[in-house]
Amino acid sequence: MMQHLAEGAALMGYALSSAQLQQFEEFRTELQRGNESMNLTSIKQPADVEKLHFLDSLTVLLALDLPQNEDNSPLILDVGSGAGFPGIPLKIVLPKARIRMLEATGKKVSFMRQVITTMGLPNIEVLQGRAEELAHTPTLRESFPFVVSRAVAPLATLVELCLPFCSVGGTFIAMKKGDMDAELKAAAHAIRVLGGEPLSRMAVPSKLFEDNRILVTIEKRIATPRSYPRRPGVPSHNPLLKG
Ligand code: SAH
Repeated sequence: MMQHLAEGAALMGYALSSAQLQQFEEFRTELQRGNESMNLTSIKQPADVEKLHFLDSLTVLLALDLPQNEDNSPLILDVGSGAGFPGIPLKIVLPKARIRMLEATGKKVSFMRQVITTMGLPNIEVLQGRAEELAHTPTLRESFPFVVSRAVAPLATLVELCLPFCSVGGTFIAMKKGDMDAELKAAAHAIRVLGGEPLSRMAVPSKLFEDNRILVTIEKRIATPRSYPRRPGVPSHNPLLKG
């Protein structure tokens, strides 16, 4: 029962209880059910869901520098969560964390809300809307010490969608794959304009994934200028590239 996930999480220092593994089973059942009525995710085989969605989502923990205080409940925003990745797996593994998931597509938002209700997950909420708009909401802007995102956009676009949510001194972690040299170089200007500074690149150990997965951590150094993010669609159609 989710042996691969249990072993992978253990390699990262997280011993999952049978109750947590049961929650992953429940989430996988909900994904199957959701996929029957809508096109939620192209990954459908149970073993693939376990590895490519669940274990992959948890790899962000390798770069999340969470406070060690037992009472602490870190506030984490997941931008462009889709069917709930990495936000819902993070919630299962970090029960005390306060998770917020942002998603533009209504059907995916409904799915995630239904999963949260069915599974009875506490302290996890879905925000519906475009990052370009929600990042200008005062209660959300510069309000998250941790921002994460998987498979949403190239880095130059992604930082415009994510860094505005990050509190000054906080970190944004982009879950990426492949050679990041060109993508990081192309994003350098955007990162600077938005008040960030590249902090580190961490390779996901090949014991977990052998296809060159990378966690890019960016620190928010100064407040993002008010004019960012630009209007919906602009960050992706016209990313902040230099020159
Ligand atoms: N993070 C999930 C989903 C990736 S697909 C996963 O790894 O499986 C990208 C998702 O981001 C889509 O569901 C899309 O609707 C959402 N998205 C893309 N641009 C967005 C934006 N500007 N604001 C909010 N959501 C966005």
